[in-house]
Amino acid sequence: MIDIILKKGKEKAVLQRHPWVFSGAIEHVKGKPANGDIVKLINAKGDFVAYGFYNDQSRVALRLLEWDESVAVDEDWFRHKVADAVAGRNELLSTGATNTCRLIFSESDYLPGLIVDKYADHLAVQVLTSGIEKMMPVIIDELQRLLNPKSIFDKSDASSRQHEGLETTNVVLLGDAPPESVEVKENNILYNINIAEGQKSGFYCDQRDNRRIVAGYTKGKKVLDCFSYTGGFTLNALQNGAASVTSVDSSALAIETLKENIKLNKLDAGKHTAIQSDVNKQLRAFKDCGELFDIIVLDPPKYAPSRSALDRAARAYKDLNRLGMLLLNSGGLLATYSCSGAMDLETFKQVIAWAALDAGKQVQFINQFCQPEDHPVRSSFPEGEYLKGLLCRVV
Ligand code: SAH
Repeated sequence: MIDIILKKGKEKAVLQRHPWVFSGAIEHVKGKPANGDIVKLINAKGDFVAYGFYNDQSRVALRLLEWDESVAVDEDWFRHKVADAVAGRNELLSTGATNTCRLIFSESDYLPGLIVDKYADHLAVQVLTSGIEKMMPVIIDELQRLLNPKSIFDKSDASSRQHEGLETTNVVLLGDAPPESVEVKENNILYNINIAEGQKSGFYCDQRDNRRIVAGYTKGKKVLDCFSYTGGFTLNALQNGAASVTSVDSSALAIETLKENIKLNKLDAGKHTAIQSDVNKQLRAFKDCGELFDIIVLDPPKYAPSRSALDRAARAYKDLNRLGMLLLNSGGLLATYSCSGAMDLETFKQVIAWAALDAGKQVQFINQFCQPEDHPVRSSFPEGEYLKGLLCRVV
């Protein structure tokens, strides 16, 4: 195994079990490890620090796996980590109300670069590091042993793979290609998922709890679900007795699937309006014609992909939320989210305060939202926390 020597003074974070070592923190590489090889990290004094995946193509040159020198990071090590992550979701899946979730969440489940999502009997994986790519035969075998899925489909995100110097993939890893439409259940609501063509790996299961919480406020209310995708918030609101729900999304496939999902759940299509449009444009159109709502959900895509994009993203979040606030009846509720890891909850609150001032409204924060249990945040890896939201009463 090849030794990687850490620069003096760069030890603090890794001793606290942060799993990333940036290339700038490396003093010396003894030998020529291949990308994805498991190497040994040594401090400036020559002591063992941790084992990790090496990749000289990535800004994160080392992704640490194991801090105990006596533990072999072999096939069994990976099998155990996969099994632990899957076992961590047992409770969530045990009631039968939900059969879709994230089974493995990368660094947060001690497997840097591996994401596995469950869609009933099918799995969608994302392989985002060269180290995990090398271990995939073992990981697939373990997933098959534990879950016996009908298919495993690789739906790796192209831009993340590029950072590691990996080619784009979209291949069947096990079984047949997943069917065009897989029916799943989340909190007893049914969804058709198109694993191959849908966004992300097919579904945004990170909003599971938040959809249910927001639905609790919607009985008899006029609801606007912005960035609806295939209808997570919409379906929960309709099922909970909303008077009407309007869903807005720019994706034709999302809107089409949302309409199918309304039928699938035998919900009243007469109470639903689907609009395929840009949200900002649509909100302005509502404003121009004076249409108001009781509850508005704003769940936009990630506006800040990195810390450097934070200022621009903050302005975009502010403009969006200002518009949302202007479309609420007095005392109405705004459920607003940010899935940008670079924006923390405190900053998001400031952005909302700023939007309220601009809109000439007063806001009370009456609830806070976060990511659910199948997207754990590892205490030594705060970067795993990305989803936050606020429930605001607006007058
Ligand atoms: N709320 C959804 C998830 C939203 S994901 C759920 O519960 O499942 C973000 C969505 O925003 C995607 O469906 C994407 O198609 C849509 N989107 C991105 N930019 C948009 C824009 N400018 N206007 C409208 N929709 C947009």
